[in-house]
This record gives sequence, C-alpha cells and structure tokens, in this order.
Amino acid sequence: MSQTTVRTRYAPSPTGIPHIGNTRTALYAFLLARKYGGKFILRIEDTDQKRTVPGSLEKIYEIQKFLGLTPDEDPQKGGLFGPYIQTQRRQIYQKYVQELVAKGVAYEDEGAIRIKMPKEGYATWHDLVAGKISIPNKEVDDKVLLKSDGVPTYHLAAMIDDHLMEISHIIRGVEYIVSTPVHLKIYEALGWEFPHIAHVPLLLGPDRTKLSKRHGAKSVLEYRDEGYLPEAINNFLFYLGFSYQDNSALLSLADMAKIFDENKIQKQNAIFDIQKLNHFNKAWIKRLSDEDLLERIKPFLKHQVADDTLTKILPLVKERITKLDELDQFITFFFDRPEPQVQTDQTKKYLADALSVLEKNAWTKEAIESALANSANEKGWNRGDYFMALRLAITGSRVTPPLTESMLIIGQDEILARLKQNLA
Ligand code: GLU
Repeated sequence: MSQTTVRTRYAPSPTGIPHIGNTRTALYAFLLARKYGGKFILRIEDTDQKRTVPGSLEKIYEIQKFLGLTPDEDPQKGGLFGPYIQTQRRQIYQKYVQELVAKGVAYEDEGAIRIKMPKEGYATWHDLVAGKISIPNKEVDDKVLLKSDGVPTYHLAAMIDDHLMEISHIIRGVEYIVSTPVHLKIYEALGWEFPHIAHVPLLLGPDRTKLSKRHGAKSVLEYRDEGYLPEAINNFLFYLGFSYQDNSALLSLADMAKIFDENKIQKQNAIFDIQKLNHFNKAWIKRLSDEDLLERIKPFLKHQVADDTLTKILPLVKERITKLDELDQFITFFFDRPEPQVQTDQTKKYLADALSVLEKNAWTKEAIESALANSANEKGWNRGDYFMALRLAITGSRVTPPLTESMLIIGQDEILARLKQNLA
C-alpha cells in the first residue's frame, strides 16, 4: 500500500464519555495510520444535537491525549473541506443529498430524505475482519439521510465525510455491518470508490454479554484516575482483538504499529479481563524509570513527601504495586507510626531483644541485618518469627517492602520509638 494514501479516522459521537471498548477502535485506527506512515483523523459526529452531552467533546480529546493517540490533523481546523466537526459542516451535506435525489437513489418522505434501497440483489463487500459479507438489499430499510428539519443523519454525514476526508480505511464496531449496504449505496451513487473496511468484533464482559456499564465498563479517564498507565491501557486494548506471540509482551505504540495488521484482526469477540489489564499495568510500572515513576505517582499521593525521600522509597515498592493509587496506603508506615500490635510473651521477648540490639548498633543495612540475625541465632529462636514480629511492630503489616531498607529510611529514633511502643 502506498505510504501517503492511508488515512484512517476515529469518529466518536459526543453523546457521553466513550467507554474503553470504543477507545480500542481509536487505537486500531491510529496504529493502522502509523503502520503505513499515513494520517489519523479524529472526526466528531455531533449532528444529532439532541443526544449531545455537554463536556463529552473535551473528554474525548482528553482520552486521546492521555493515550498518545493524537490526531494528525486538528479537528477544529480540519482540512480542505472544513473542520472535522460535523455540526460545522452542515451546508456541505445538502449538496450531496440533492444529488442523490436527482439521481433517483434518494427520495422525499414527509419532509425527510430517505435512501432508496433496491428490493433485489445483494450488497456485497470484502470486510477486512469477517471476509466476504453479503446482505440481501431487501432486508435493509430505506434509512433517513436528512431529517425534515434539515439535519443530516449519521449515514449521510459519515459517508460524505469519509469521502471528502479521503479516508482509505474505515475501522468501526461490528454493529455497523447492518448499515454498510446503505453506505455502499451512497458511495456507488456518487461515483466514489468505497474505502477498505474493517468491522471490529464486540468487547464482551466476563459473562459474555456486550460490555456495558453493568459490568463496570469505564472510560479510559476512570482507569487513569485509578492509576492505570496509558502504556498499559494501550497494550491491553491492543490484545483485545489482536494476537501476538503469547499475548503478554509489553509493546509501545511504535512496537504495536509495526506488528498491527489490518487483515489479522480477530474475528471472535474479545472478553474484557481486568486481570490482564492489571498484569500489564504492574509490568509497565516496573519498567518505568524511578524518575518517571516519581512524577507519575505524585498526583496519587495524599502524603506530602519530599522528592528525595520518595526517591528512596520508590525502588522498594515499585515491584509491589499494580496501580499507582495503591502506593499511598503502602507507604503510610514510613510517615505515620502504626498502632501498637497485639503482642504475646514470646513476641515481646523478640522485640525487647531487637530493641537492645538496635539501640547500640551501627545504622547500616549490613550491620542491622547481621546483628539481629546473630542475636536470634544465639537464643535459638526461629529467625523468620523474630523478623516477622519486628516487621509487624514497625510497619503494622505482615506484607511490606524490604524491612531493613525501610528501617533505614524511617530512621533509628523512630524505629526505637515504635519498638518501645509495642513493649509498653
Ligand atoms: N459516530 C459513530 C459512533 O460513535 C461512529 C461510527 C463509524 O465509525 O462509522 O459509534
């Protein structure tokens, strides 16, 4: 395929914040354009003003920006034929609808204009996902193209725009297969060449019904606010409809663009599995440099933490968090003294021993570790139990970052105070 001719589009309607399944279509359109060095366009399909939800346009832009799926042409400026926001293009559609009427493929009905679908024959096309599709024309309604108030419908506006914006590949949800005969008819009547087209299968919830709010389907912005990284979301969405090696490789957008193949989008519906998203997020967090993680974690911290302290803590916890919003509770014990724990006679013995060791000991990792281990050994105590008692008293939890490193960050005075508190 020629490098310059590929132009793809993502064409959301601002009728709410797109959920994550919808964003997958945007990712695929973006990757296809990148793969061929083409252009990715964002078109706002807002002709149905009654369904427009204020604020959703901004959210659409925000999602694209967060994921790095930035359109190559500014939707506000658009191109040769005006902006890529359909309400600002209304006069453009009139001319074409008149032409369709003049050609006898559209007709007036109660003030509206409808497409005239043939009663015989089939609409047939090669779908990049499903292969050959044939739909009997008689099963397709005469859809409205222009409403009696002069407002174009999706069928008219989207097709005129796909042509004028020189879209080479339409990538959209499988629910639009039933509309494709109407779209083919419009293109054919106007003497235009129909683009390549791929209808991407559904995204299903774990119960195998179409993913919806009921399954907790969220927008990318909600995932962002929970501490999912854009890298992980893109990676996760990529595999929801695409197979590569063992489907767990960490891929950047540039990697995905190389691998993406519009002829190999999976035919079967994809199942939304939050565990997979968690897997990618954990893996991507691990991969971030400490400096990068530091900046990304800041908005999630309720504690005021100085950069240099955070720089010391992050390497200890980086491999343990799945989402950025988990960090705060994980590091609380560094700053807030935990409640005293319930102690038995035995654990009190351990803590009293540790206290006397730590009071006089050099405050380095090696010195602390060997002194404590030696002391436990001398008394014939189980080392695991000994350190667990210490861990609980210092952190208030059984599962924590490495203990000695944490003690060094917390500081000797505070550690001694915590031990004493548990012995009181
Ligand atoms: N505006 C439609 C939607 O939001 C896009 C359909 C298409 O891509 O042709 O689903």
